[in-house]
Amino acid sequence: MRQEMVTDDADHEGSRTPASFPISAELYERARRVIPGGVTSAVRAGALPHPLYLERGAGPYVWDVDGNRYIDFVLGYGPLILGHAPAVLRTALVAQLEKGVTFGSQSRLEIEVAELIVELVPGAEQVVFSTSGTEAVASALRIARAATGREIVIRFEGHYHGWFDEMLIGPRRGAGATGFAPGSEGIPAAAQQNMLVAPWNDIGAVRGLLEARRGQVAAIILEPLLVNGGVISASPGFLAALRTLADEHGAILIFDEVITGFRLAPGGAQELFGVRADLAIFGKAIGAGVPLSAVAGRKGLLDLVAAGRVVHNGTFNGNVLALAGVAATLRHLRDERATLFPRLSSIGDQLARGLRELGPPLVVRSLGPIVHTAFGEPADVTSVRDREGGDRALHARFIGALLRHGVHATPRGLWYVSTAHGDDDIAATVAAARRALAEVL
Ligand code: PMP
Repeated sequence: MRQEMVTDDADHEGSRTPASFPISAELYERARRVIPGGVTSAVRAGALPHPLYLERGAGPYVWDVDGNRYIDFVLGYGPLILGHAPAVLRTALVAQLEKGVTFGSQSRLEIEVAELIVELVPGAEQVVFSTSGTEAVASALRIARAATGREIVIRFEGHYHGWFDEMLIGPRRGAGATGFAPGSEGIPAAAQQNMLVAPWNDIGAVRGLLEARRGQVAAIILEPLLVNGGVISASPGFLAALRTLADEHGAILIFDEVITGFRLAPGGAQELFGVRADLAIFGKAIGAGVPLSAVAGRKGLLDLVAAGRVVHNGTFNGNVLALAGVAATLRHLRDERATLFPRLSSIGDQLARGLRELGPPLVVRSLGPIVHTAFGEPADVTSVRDREGGDRALHARFIGALLRHGVHATPRGLWYVSTAHGDDDIAATVAAARRALAEVL
């Protein structure tokens, strides 16, 4: 199902002239004078030949300031589950704009959105709102620590949980359970002293950490599908084994569903994989592009917020502009779930299949609407350690070449699809990828 039928006959496959970016280049130079590095989130810095300046988006397409049109698989780094500027979101936002954007007070909308999350997400009995995924991760950890009276948190190599001091670690790979460093200058070493890092899919390592720190581990936090580390699924039984270990050791199991939530299934990874977390964190797709994040879970845990034992603040928490967009998105996802999620997965599968058919050295991993490409590493990997040989520079050149052929994807290899992408967009993308590969190999 396509949300927006956007056609542009002049841009049909074969008639396209390679894109060039003189106005973007000029803006990038101007930006660098007043914005450090010229970008407002470090992940956007790696684009070749330089970051692009976009002007508008509709359905699966974006247009840059030079007038080039791209089929977009960046999708705002994940949120745009319905594509760009879908009618369902536009209508809700315009209506809300007439009434105000934030009140710093309660609204019917926050109840409605919490009720929708409780309806859709397994195990969600109550919900707290914030704005970014990073904030929601911080809230979830605080709740878990308050609930257990413990401080240590177990996390996994290659998993990303936001950029605040405690969670931004590096190097991402091969660091082992104890040897990791802060992922940025400016982070005090003490900020991460309660963090233990296990290799993904290594249940023995997790058990070992829990036993070594018996009675001290507050939480185990993970991306239930490791997306940030390169779309690496949990091995069969791994999530269920984590559930069992968390129960045995009285630790809170936290699924960071900032990417997987409302994308893999209406109830996220918990629904798709059939494993229940104690707390689940949402962001990105929850609002099809408006910024809102949430922590959902058992009432027994969230009661700590009600009791004032866990402080949860935020000027923009539950702002009505974001909530109006989220309410409209979640209603739409709920009402259309029978066709929307299978369609989303099938579009992702089509993209993955088409790219895979281009053959080595391009390596493709995917799960439904989340696809990953890389060079020089095995397709079957169980942890980021298996990706050591990957050629990231070649991949960035591939994505740069794709741009000239009208396809916008992330340099690091993550491709998101939306309900707005049509079969013809996927076919055009695979054809563009074939040409881009020939240019960079
Ligand atoms: N958790 C995961 C799994 C993420 O992918 C991200 C962002 N990519 C975050 C947390 C942080 O979210 P935000 O960028 O909204 O702070």
